[in-house]
Amino acid sequence: MHDHPTDLEGYEWPTCVNPRCNRELWVSEAGRWACRPCEDATAKRIAELPGLFRQLNTTASLMRGARRSGGGTSGSKTPPIPPRLEVLALVGPGGAAARLRDIEDAWRNVLGWTVAPWRGSPGQAVPEHATFLINNLPWACDSYESVGQDIDDLRRLHSECTAIVNGERKPGRVAIGFCPVLVDDGLCGQQLTASAASHRVHCSGCGSRWETLGEWRELRAAQDAVATEQAESEGVAA
Ligand SMILES: [Zn+2]
Ligand SMILES: [Zn+2]
Repeated sequence: MHDHPTDLEGYEWPTCVNPRCNRELWVSEAGRWACRPCEDATAKRIAELPGLFRQLNTTASLMRGARRSGGGTSGSKTPPIPPRLEVLALVGPGGAAARLRDIEDAWRNVLGWTVAPWRGSPGQAVPEHATFLINNLPWACDSYESVGQDIDDLRRLHSECTAIVNGERKPGRVAIGFCPVLVDDGLCGQQLTASAASHRVHCSGCGSRWETLGEWRELRAAQDAVATEQAESEGVAA
């Protein structure tokens, strides 16, 4: 079954259309455009995209939430979580959802189907597009001549998402104000730091943790309350 290509004169043995693979196809893969290992790797990447996207979406809302509440209170010097443009670009319009939709539309076009229906917000659309692409990937690898480019685009999208989620770019931590937790002898007051790559703020002074968007908002509100109290006690309240 797994015969190696012979050296028939003038005959070019078919190769996988994935530009990063170009492996000679097995006899059992005759008639396919992409090889089975590329199909398997691509299916795995597509299946991981919805989970990766959810994490990026959470990071994006943390950044937006931090920015919104940061500007509201006068006198609060708390810097916002630095927005990471790559994160916002991937979760926003034209981001991951649009890139998946473009591939889905191209496949639908070749199949003679109508264009992809409206799938809602990017958060709702990504899993829907992923399901379509996984279901139709065997067809594409078999019968769609341009599948090589899509395989490569999906690989790139997957690696952009994993790079951010795994914090490979090491965005660094930024100071986000002082710990507002009351301990035995008053305010903890430890400088807190956060990173856009992680959802966890951990106080090294009193051990408090804030991990969710709701908890971040509580933290910000508590910091603002402390700042207001201090301003009032110093007689400079507005
Ligand atoms: Zn291949
Ligand atoms: Zn603390």
